[in-house]
Amino acid sequence: MLAEKKKRHAELSKLLSNYSRQYYIFDDPSVSDAEYDALYQELLAIEDEYPQLATKSSPSQKVGAKVSKDFQKVFHKQKMLSLENAFNEEDIQDFIDKVKKLTGKSEIEFMLEPKLDGLSASIMYRDGILVQASTRGDGAIGEDVTENVKTLNNVPKRINLSGNIEIRGEVVMLKKDFEQLNEQRRLNGEKLFSNPRNAAAGSLRQLDSHITAQRKLTFFAYSIIGESLNLTSQQEILQILRDLGFTVSDKIKLCRNQEEAFDFYKTMEQQRSDLEYDIDGVVYKTNDLSLQKQMGNATKYPRHSIAYKFPAQKAQTTILDIVVQVGRTGNITPVAELAPVNVGGVIVSRATLHNKDEIEKKDIRVGDRVVVQRAGDVIPQILHPIIEQRPSDSVPFIFPTICPCCGSELVSEEEEVAIKCENLDCSAQLVEKLIHFVSRQAFNIEGLGEQNIKFLFNKGIVKSPVDIFHLQEKNQQYHLENEDGWGKQSVENLFQSIEIAKNIGLEKFINALGIPQIGRAASVLIARFYGTFSNFMNAVEQDTVSELITINGIGDSMIQDLKNFFKISNNLEVMRKLSAVVSIQDAQTTEESEWTGKSIVFTGTLSTLSRDEAKEIVEKLGGKASSSVSAKTYLVVAGKNAGSKLEKAKNLGVKIISEQEFLEMIQEG
Ligand code: NAD
Repeated sequence: MLAEKKKRHAELSKLLSNYSRQYYIFDDPSVSDAEYDALYQELLAIEDEYPQLATKSSPSQKVGAKVSKDFQKVFHKQKMLSLENAFNEEDIQDFIDKVKKLTGKSEIEFMLEPKLDGLSASIMYRDGILVQASTRGDGAIGEDVTENVKTLNNVPKRINLSGNIEIRGEVVMLKKDFEQLNEQRRLNGEKLFSNPRNAAAGSLRQLDSHITAQRKLTFFAYSIIGESLNLTSQQEILQILRDLGFTVSDKIKLCRNQEEAFDFYKTMEQQRSDLEYDIDGVVYKTNDLSLQKQMGNATKYPRHSIAYKFPAQKAQTTILDIVVQVGRTGNITPVAELAPVNVGGVIVSRATLHNKDEIEKKDIRVGDRVVVQRAGDVIPQILHPIIEQRPSDSVPFIFPTICPCCGSELVSEEEEVAIKCENLDCSAQLVEKLIHFVSRQAFNIEGLGEQNIKFLFNKGIVKSPVDIFHLQEKNQQYHLENEDGWGKQSVENLFQSIEIAKNIGLEKFINALGIPQIGRAASVLIARFYGTFSNFMNAVEQDTVSELITINGIGDSMIQDLKNFFKISNNLEVMRKLSAVVSIQDAQTTEESEWTGKSIVFTGTLSTLSRDEAKEIVEKLGGKASSSVSAKTYLVVAGKNAGSKLEKAKNLGVKIISEQEFLEMIQEG
């Protein structure tokens, strides 16, 4: 038995060490935190049974990972420890009992703070001046990131305290800054960060502080160490940090009993998705510092605190089928069709499998029982199959070699994971292109959704975008009104929508063309650069689009895609024909308006507009639709069930209006 456990322990140690290296050194985790935590708990369970396996080299005895050799080393005067984890109320109950036992007290106050999901940093001040900043590293030795930390706007470079003072806290990337950064990286064709934590770590641990300066990072302080300070409680520490000018989370609570502590955890779990930053649990800290000192530290964590982690939003289900889809640019994406399952309040019945490599790496098969996870707003993900429950007749999935739609042989380019159908006439691609063409961010033709496009395409009525604008003439021959599910009124409404859609801004027109990598944001940039359709057409015809490289946000590979697109003479021809039947408005030059440059936040559920529509209106009026409230927010539009953003706006004195008032304002505008 011991031999077996020893073997598993060795396996787990190796796996966890490798995962930690990827996570801490390369800021590029190879598995989810939940997966890591599950393996770590398995390791702890083995060590509980066989304590002799908990040697110095076990991951259970190590904090973080050794520092990267690219950075100067910083020796921490006081070790930067990790936190013990709790996963349920029983763990917390045990922790509270332990604290009571160690301190001999029957009543204990705990300070509860959100467990910020970033990376910890230590900032040293000497006589009020910031002199050094470092990462946690392995707890004893960290990486010198002084210059990088100095670029963070909310870190005071001077504080009003003399002597040697150390401030500890978490460096995070706010959700809105993370979204912006990833959007920029997507435009530049760079690899995306998988979550704000990795983006924060990757941005702080840069060798060139200019890069850190371009990434928006925020520091939340939670601890202060200084010989001359005569501190008594964690509550006092947080107040002093605030007074010194540090940002401290406002989601904190001093709890005097277990009930309050569990309630706070539940509230935070509910509010989690509305917060400006990611949190992965709640930290319970013994408030009284003399008791903290009395309890001391274990090898890896202090005994006075614990992190009660939120459960990952996971569930188990069965893969009913794996189908492959052909995208508008010919990319083939495998999709798992699942027996519907509730994951964190959302019914999931499909999950992307990304590509062939992913299916092979995870050995995912039709009929497998699998673990599905939803992380924030990210598309559901299949973590892994449950091999023990695999049906005995299961066979590996064979990735198709021909396009499921047109039968052309699929192509995989060297060094690229994507497998493509390169047949430009492949009907699946043509249909996807048409669906994109009429979508809200393009021609926005009401009454012409996915189903109708497929119908018109399959009937041979609409084969190219231009056909849409000749639908009324063509209908004299086809009589759509006599088809099932159409009817006279809906056909007339459709013709009317098409007429309205003929009036289109240059931004949406460029987006509608469906040029690879030229999405909504890039189209706006290109349209603003050229101003008019004829300028854009000239640049395309004379092949001068390389000049777009001067725009921040347009990269080489995007320009190459633009050129390749117009090298295909049919694409140019379609654009010419379209310009003859529609009216393309000059690009919005965002004239000065009451809203120019102002930040507007929508919160709660809007009843007459979708979030996208509301944001679009704000952008058109020259404003910025932002996802978080700050003192700089110009206006908050509050829909039904608005939560923490509304609260914050009230606290900051930001103007708050209803959806109705917003509609009236834009009508006046
Ligand atoms: P941890 O992140 O679970 O907890 C300790 C850390 O919490 C502290 O160092 C501090 O940085 C942070 N923290 C946030 N808010 C805090 C607050 N208010 N007060 C005090 N501290 C606060 O522990 P860890 O040792 O840093 O990392 C282990 C965790 O990291 C694992 O549980 C796992 O989730 C993740 N991990 C994932 C992978 C992977 O491959 N996905 C690999 C290694 C580690």
